[in-house]
Amino acid sequence: MSADTRIIDGKAFAEGLRTRIAAVAADFEAKAGRKAGLAVVLVGEDPASQVYVRNKGKQTVAAGMESFEHKLPADASEADLLAVVEQLNADPAVDGILVQLPLPAHMNEQKVIATINPDKDVDGFHVVNVGRLATGLPGFVPCTPLGCVMLLKDRLGSLSGLDAVVIGRSNIVGKPMAQLLIAESCTVTVAHSRTKDLADVVRRADIVVAAVGRPEMVKGDWIKPGATVIDVGINRVPRTDQGAEEGKTRLVGDVDFASAAEVAGAITPVPGGVGPMTIAVLLRNTIVAAHRSAGLALDESAL
Ligand code: NAD
Repeated sequence: MSADTRIIDGKAFAEGLRTRIAAVAADFEAKAGRKAGLAVVLVGEDPASQVYVRNKGKQTVAAGMESFEHKLPADASEADLLAVVEQLNADPAVDGILVQLPLPAHMNEQKVIATINPDKDVDGFHVVNVGRLATGLPGFVPCTPLGCVMLLKDRLGSLSGLDAVVIGRSNIVGKPMAQLLIAESCTVTVAHSRTKDLADVVRRADIVVAAVGRPEMVKGDWIKPGATVIDVGINRVPRTDQGAEEGKTRLVGDVDFASAAEVAGAITPVPGGVGPMTIAVLLRNTIVAAHRSAGLALDESAL
């Protein structure tokens, strides 16, 4: 196999998914007499969050859905934010609600998430959706791990019986990732900051999902030959290549791509791997939410 075919092109897959979603969104509009709607709430001026919110808005509109943006100042009270969420819960034009995290320190994230109607919680962070995922009920699954599973199934077909190691146990990536892989009948190990002999644990895996936030931590000699490697990490590091201007940075994952790509059967790059999947899956969850709220049938597995 040439080096290129080992690379899982998340950008291309996300584009294809967005095209399928746009067709479904047009069909929804024709049947429901309105567009599906996604509301994004941003508190404060965090530059990275502003970029995410702008991109979400653009891609929502490009997919033929309505985008609603609510911006609150950094010193808004928690009660102000909860009032916006309640208003969106009650608005029939809003199918999905996303509160951009992180919130300012004076706000309780769990309380805010708990206020979102679980049937509009397209981020899948509400405890009701966490419970639905854990028990196999239909709900909403966090976008990044669902995107990872889509890439894995696209590459491998059935994941049944494969050994999977998820590195990281966060609520937004590691834990839901592990639940999804269990649902796909993998044998799942969740590794984290206290795991002993991490390299040995990873070496057993047919599927490695790295969601740590440590640049290039997973080395090629940790990877079982032929394994599929999904790199969720997004880390900005100084550029060290010759001729790079001082202060310039580049993005790297949690996996040392150069050495891992030599051994892996398939691997996601950073950027262009998992990253583009997150917003595409958010749009997927929103069009699913719209169909459910309108009582319209949708083959969710085809998306
Ligand atoms: P987090 O900080 O909440 O969790 C990191 C996890 O890594 C923790 O569970 C911790 O136990 C584990 N960990 C830390 N050090 C470790 C070590 N030395 N060995 C093994 N495990 C260790 O992070 P997160 O929100 O889950 O995000 C993880 C990474 O994924 C970050 O780089 C983040 O930027 C990225 N991310 C990308 C996307 C995307 O692609 N759209 C979305 C979410 C997160």
